[in-house]
Amino acid sequence: MKILVATEKPFAKKAVDGIRGIVEGAGYELSLLEKYTDKAQLLEAVADADALIIRSDKVTAEVIAAAKNLKIVVRAGAGYDNVDLAAATARGIVVMNTPGQNSNAVAELAIAMMIFMARNRFTPGTGSEIQGKTLGIHAYGNVGKLVGRKGRAMGMKVLAYDPFITDAAVFEADGVETVASVAELYKRSDYLSLHIPATAETKGSIGYELLMSMPKGATLVNTARKEVIDEEGLRRALAEREDLKYITDIAPANQAELDEQFGKRVFATAKKMGAETAEANINAGLAAASQIVDFFKNGTTRFQVNK
Ligand code: NAD
Repeated sequence: MKILVATEKPFAKKAVDGIRGIVEGAGYELSLLEKYTDKAQLLEAVADADALIIRSDKVTAEVIAAAKNLKIVVRAGAGYDNVDLAAATARGIVVMNTPGQNSNAVAELAIAMMIFMARNRFTPGTGSEIQGKTLGIHAYGNVGKLVGRKGRAMGMKVLAYDPFITDAAVFEADGVETVASVAELYKRSDYLSLHIPATAETKGSIGYELLMSMPKGATLVNTARKEVIDEEGLRRALAEREDLKYITDIAPANQAELDEQFGKRVFATAKKMGAETAEANINAGLAAASQIVDFFKNGTTRFQVNK
């Protein structure tokens, strides 16, 4: 059984060593294609691979057609829009991602963003503390729950809204209070941390009215997706409320306009960096290898995305 790791942008050595340990420990062969510069190299390398681990590498229909023995592709990371799912499914190839492996990295960034804004973006002047403030978590998934726990550890009161989590024990275990509606969440949160996925329901759903309902001096923190924001609504709310702040890991289309109009009250990272930690990359690589072994040994398809 041959497991190919094909990474244009390689994993850290520690991750490769760990992947090798898992793969060879299971009695399989590891093959590495790193820093490849030409698609032809990938087409050649996949020809006899039974399994494929990738990062942001593109697995097109052409790659799948060239991979005659391929049974499983694992994207080490959360997003998998770099894999042609239809082509894989047509061949009966299982595609997985490694959800949750970068959640801590994103959650730490969300907390850091709150403090950065509370301390005037680390410029001189009197800031404020996050301890004692109310933190609202919009969606209590992998990232949201870590932000909730860290918020509690920082001495914040934590509220959450996630209509898809019906087990109250999930929130109780973290000392987090649930609220009945999105409206209530925003109305009560000094810091609102967004963790909803971009879906038909959530796209453009965070805008003027919710922002206007937030307490005085509130900050909206977005490490989720830019699509969930109604950008014009955000701009209007920031214009009408001089106390509101916005910080994001995913710059909106009107970022230049927001910077010009609102100066230090808005901030966007230069490039999405929520998951960009050495630990997240290593965790994702190791998880990918373990999932492949579990698939071949036990038929486990828990993280399959093309069911
Ligand atoms: P997840 O799938 O673990 O959790 C998402 C949660 O959203 C689930 O609990 C679900 O019940 C909830 N949800 C879905 N629709 C909802 C709705 N309409 N209202 C309220 N809750 C809703 O995802 P995650 O790993 O926690 O990631 C959350 C977001 O963060 C995603 O949008 C993801 O793309 C983004 N993300 C960003 C980075 C980054 O680098 N900044 C990295 C990873 C993930």
